[in-house]
Amino acid sequence: MPLDSLSSTELLTDLWIGGKAVPASDGGRFDVLDPSTGEVLATVADGSVEDALAAVDAADGAAAAWAATAPRERAEILRRAWELMTEQADDLAKLVTLENGKALADAKGEVAYAAEFFRWYSEEAVRAAGQVMTAPSGANKIMVLHQPVGIAVLVTPWNFPAAMATRKIGPALAAGCTVVLKPASDTPLTALAMAKILDRAGVPAGVVNVLPARRSGAVVSAMLHDPRVRKLSFTGSTEVGRVLLKEAADQVINCSMELGGNAPFLVFADADLDAAVEGAMVAKMRNGGEACTAANRFYVERPVAEEFGRRLAEKMKALRMGPGLDDGVQLGPLVNTDAVEKVDELVRGAVDAGAEAVVGGRRPSDEKYSAGFYYEPTVLLDVQPGSKILEEEIFGPVAPVVTFDEEDEAIRLANATEYGLVSYVYTGDLARGLRVSEGLDSGMVGLNRGLVSDPAAPFGGTKQSGIGREGGHDGMLDYLESKYIAVQW
Ligand code: NAD
Repeated sequence: MPLDSLSSTELLTDLWIGGKAVPASDGGRFDVLDPSTGEVLATVADGSVEDALAAVDAADGAAAAWAATAPRERAEILRRAWELMTEQADDLAKLVTLENGKALADAKGEVAYAAEFFRWYSEEAVRAAGQVMTAPSGANKIMVLHQPVGIAVLVTPWNFPAAMATRKIGPALAAGCTVVLKPASDTPLTALAMAKILDRAGVPAGVVNVLPARRSGAVVSAMLHDPRVRKLSFTGSTEVGRVLLKEAADQVINCSMELGGNAPFLVFADADLDAAVEGAMVAKMRNGGEACTAANRFYVERPVAEEFGRRLAEKMKALRMGPGLDDGVQLGPLVNTDAVEKVDELVRGAVDAGAEAVVGGRRPSDEKYSAGFYYEPTVLLDVQPGSKILEEEIFGPVAPVVTFDEEDEAIRLANATEYGLVSYVYTGDLARGLRVSEGLDSGMVGLNRGLVSDPAAPFGGTKQSGIGREGGHDGMLDYLESKYIAVQW
């Protein structure tokens, strides 16, 4: 499907700086591929360091007026952005599928979720309450104001090209910050479409700047060393997150980090097994497994392990794989060839160590998949402790299953990872569910539920899964500084 058939959405392929589409300063461009065919979908301007600093200039020029804009006005602009995204949802979803590869149903879910961040933060924009209290000594009042932190650099991954952008832009704009967004190079088109929507919604020039750039290291580093930049919000891998935390240290920049995950999915023998299998499919297969929240390790209590594995395998086998825009497709291609290589390497390592691939375990051999970046839905049983697949993010349609005997053992296995983003627990015993949820070292828990993402909830991780929370009321606090005024009265 050519991009020009997306009639309701205005497509940009240049940089968006200061309210205008502009080419890269050095004329550079790069290709964006359609993962279902490997063919070039569009070429996009490749932002340079000079462009990055121009984007910071634009954000700086707009900062004072935007911070001073009445909260109600900021709220109404965000509300209009939600309405426009909702009106254009079908085309935006197709655009997400075209550049990311995910099945259209997943893309539609993402666009609805993404738009909700604009609606939620339009409602939060008018609620940045401060505080006044009497000092314990009685000598003065303690007054606390919340003020925008300043220019924010936002760096987003390719797996949710719409939602990862709005989850940052929504609270930043509500708080009164101006931003420069650097989207992932695999999926810059959705972020650029978002810039146009925000422009139409009434966001003043310079408040939102979008800078696709293949030279991401140099471009982001230049911005983090510009003294006008006060905030970094990054979503991506833990590996790159560590690099950026070090970069941000030079200017002691306020950092929010949404990093990788390695989610355990615990199934106790007293669980409703139908619900557990349904939940497993959602937790594992939403977005084809390319989600930081994707269930990465299934720990199942011995009495139900065989049946759970069999039922999960049946569901995985029945999934319809193909180009994301095709009717009825439930599993699209992965984002690029590196992703396929990585998944295949992890599966081969597990199988060599003794695991059994009861479904899938390879790239599809059928000729019709040969040009795209596909991997078969896979269930691995008897995965051996120490297998790399239990330690690293798989980021693909692969479910490794491990058996456990005791509740304590399940919690210990679940927590034996450097990550702590999300865990899932299925049990029919509420007391056990709450006890285990409390014992799991992760920022979020799905209790008898395979989906935790919600614009109204604080999303984020512990350990090396990140710092800070996005979404909900807490999400806006990440873009606000507290200012305390000691008042003599
Ligand atoms: P990535 O870390 O490779 O890239 C993320 C972003 O950082 C991209 O925009 C990329 O261009 C940029 N980048 C890469 N190297 C950089 C550098 N040296 N300096 C500055 N910027 C750089 O991650 P990805 O492959 O795009 O996304 C997948 C990862 O994102 C997974 O680890 C996944 O778990 C994580 N993720 C986390 C969340 C969350 O909320 N915790 C959500 C989605 C994805």
